[in-house]
Amino acid sequence: MHPESFVYALFGLVIGSFLNVCIYRLPRNTSIALPRSRCTHCDTPIRPYDNIPVLSYIFLRGKCRSCGKSISIQYPLVELLTGLAFYGCAQTWGFTPPTFVNSLFLAMVIVLIFIDYHHQILPNVITLPGAVAGIVLSYFQDHRFYEDVFSSRIASHFGLENIQFFLGSVLGAITWAVIFVIVGLGYQKLRKIQGLGMGDVKMMLMVGAFLGIRLGFMTIFAGSLLGSILGIGLMLVGRANMRTKLAFGVFLGIGSAFSLFYGLDLLNSYLHYFKP
Ligand SMILES: [Zn+2]
Repeated sequence: MHPESFVYALFGLVIGSFLNVCIYRLPRNTSIALPRSRCTHCDTPIRPYDNIPVLSYIFLRGKCRSCGKSISIQYPLVELLTGLAFYGCAQTWGFTPPTFVNSLFLAMVIVLIFIDYHHQILPNVITLPGAVAGIVLSYFQDHRFYEDVFSSRIASHFGLENIQFFLGSVLGAITWAVIFVIVGLGYQKLRKIQGLGMGDVKMMLMVGAFLGIRLGFMTIFAGSLLGSILGIGLMLVGRANMRTKLAFGVFLGIGSAFSLFYGLDLLNSYLHYFKP
């Protein structure tokens, strides 16, 4: 472990504290800047020394100092997850631009996961600017993400090799979003219920822009697999049935984080396996 990664993880904890504010306030349409954080039970403003990521939760034993009601475990959990995400980025890319690009990506993904879990929505204020950010920042992203066959072919055909990363990002965004729309419409026609929402489509726009075509696919694959396993598990214990709707954004989010860190290695070992 590099000491710099540890310091960067501490920075991630602080960002995680801000993400908690986004998760709570964005679906409620209140400002994420003002007012200061308050206890959700008694509305008492939280003192700065009670607002230290993770540590305050432990010192306060998960209870508000004023009213004594319990503070959701989600607060330290989001902080820890963000710290871990930032740590993973620093360990993977060191202090190079992809670390900051992917820290931003994962921060948005964490917010989407928790908002979708609670409210079954994926707010446009994150997914759409997220998609634009993914394309704009593609120059600073790990360019291996964009080295897929389609982008490479198109780039070399039109003599655009020097902006192939940009093509890879745009194609990554469009491909899976379009396929989601088609699959979603087909599903709706067949089963008369909505399987994929427009929020999922816009989330894939963002994921594809950051991760490219191949890791976008892996995101969907890993997310669906995880969702199916959990769905079947819940059905077996009688907590769900065929019509239970799980928030797909949660699984896409987990799938995208998995693909970000392990996708290329998996693809390489897979290709290696099939080569003579
Ligand atoms: Zn309170």
